[in-house]
Amino acid sequence: MAFSLVAQALAGKSIHEPANAEQSLQDIIQLASYICDAPVAMVTKADDTELNLIAKLGIAGHSVLRRESFCGYAMEAPNAVMVVPDASLDSRFNTHPMVASAPGYRFYAGSPLIDPEGFVIGTICVFDYVPKQLNQKQIDSLQALSRQVIAMLELKKLSEQLHLTSLTDALTGVNNRRAFDQKFEAEFSRWQRTGQPFTLALIDIDHFKSFNDSFGHAAGDQALSEVASLFQQHCRNYDFFARYGGEEFVLILPGTDRVSAYKTLEKLRLVVANHEWPLRQLTVSIGLASAEKFNDKKHLLEAADQVLYKAKTQGRNQTGVFSDS
Ligand code: GH3
Ligand code: MG
Ligand code: MG
Repeated sequence: MAFSLVAQALAGKSIHEPANAEQSLQDIIQLASYICDAPVAMVTKADDTELNLIAKLGIAGHSVLRRESFCGYAMEAPNAVMVVPDASLDSRFNTHPMVASAPGYRFYAGSPLIDPEGFVIGTICVFDYVPKQLNQKQIDSLQALSRQVIAMLELKKLSEQLHLTSLTDALTGVNNRRAFDQKFEAEFSRWQRTGQPFTLALIDIDHFKSFNDSFGHAAGDQALSEVASLFQQHCRNYDFFARYGGEEFVLILPGTDRVSAYKTLEKLRLVVANHEWPLRQLTVSIGLASAEKFNDKKHLLEAADQVLYKAKTQGRNQTGVFSDS
């Protein structure tokens, strides 16, 4: 954190502005560049064949081949900072295209990034066009920065995991109500902005209370998960499926009018009805309404709910479609 604050101050930014992960990495390589007095700095992340430049300063490009890179060598000695004072005098690098011709690098220093499991996942490194040496303080600082990069990347990973968890239903693993609220809001705004229609479907398992009563809550949980996974597997990639709450689910069908949506939902309804349920046959009732003619998402939801209710009263295991006539 201290490094990040210093770097923001150095970069002339207000220290009151919270830095995102990209800005923090950029701050770190800016510091590496200052500390080592080198004009080029980067953070690389390795895959099997390439090193991807996830932050860079004074260099263009997005990746380099691992086997042709300085960093590939640095990663072979994970606990040390690799310093190449003059690449033109080093038999490993003197024929390297970036040494022998443009940009004509001479100096390199790279510190491997070691993740909490002990794996080397990349480097933080600096280059210069003139030969030079680093003193011990500079070497130690570059190594400290490599630990800061790891801390940053771990925080980013954790925050992404948390974000995903906050949008996932714990029982069924599908999108949860919060994720639906966000998507519904986004899709409704898009409809209002572009006039591109979408259809909303509410799905409710039939007689689920009696299923629980007969077979117990744990079997009920399992059946709920199975219904969710059938819908998730059989809906289209661009449809958005979520658990709305209890034994109710919701499907948003972007760019789809109510006629096509009806066909899709009927197929999905039959997938559930024809599934081989081990304890008792399960069915769902569905209510769908197209966003067309609605300028309030609450009313759209109410319309879908209204036809779902009708589908229930008319015998269940069927799809009702809202029509304003
Ligand atoms: P209908 O056909 O009219 O929808 O009848 P229903 O029995 O499905 O509807 P009702 O609203 O009476 O009951 C819903 C049931 O869903 C009751 C509740 O225990 C069950 N349920 C809701 N959430 C869960 C859950 O997370 N796990 C389990 N096992 N059951 C759940
Ligand atoms: Mg219900
Ligand atoms: Mg129900």
